[in-house]
Amino acid sequence: MSKYGLLIDYEYCSGCHSCEIACRNEKDIALEDWGIKLASIGPWKRENGTWEWNNIPVPTQLCDLCTSRVTAGKKPACVHHCLAFCMDYGPVEELSKKMSDKGSKVVMFIP
Ligand code: SF4
Ligand code: SF4
Repeated sequence: MSKYGLLIDYEYCSGCHSCEIACRNEKDIALEDWGIKLASIGPWKRENGTWEWNNIPVPTQLCDLCTSRVTAGKKPACVHHCLAFCMDYGPVEELSKKMSDKGSKVVMFIP
């Protein structure tokens, strides 16, 4: 049986925080806790003149991949509400193929 996970293509993450809010609402998470939290790395300027600045949403121990939504045939709340369409959910085999096709600035989370 396949394991499932989340794929996050953070190259296109705008840092809008919608995934955090969607998760909090879906899982009824207390304000001082998080089901997924945005990490920001940068900005800093490289010697070649380009900038490094990444927003990366990181699921926490509270993430159960939205079992109840998925069982009801829906996408996980964070995936459904991501405004940049940069989150995906599915079997890890499919996600790892997408990950390998993408190559960089993409991470997979398997709880
Ligand atoms: S899959 Fe569900 S529980 Fe996990 S981070 Fe996304 S919204 Fe939260
Ligand atoms: S909802 Fe999507 S674009 Fe917005 S912070 Fe989360 S991953 Fe990034």
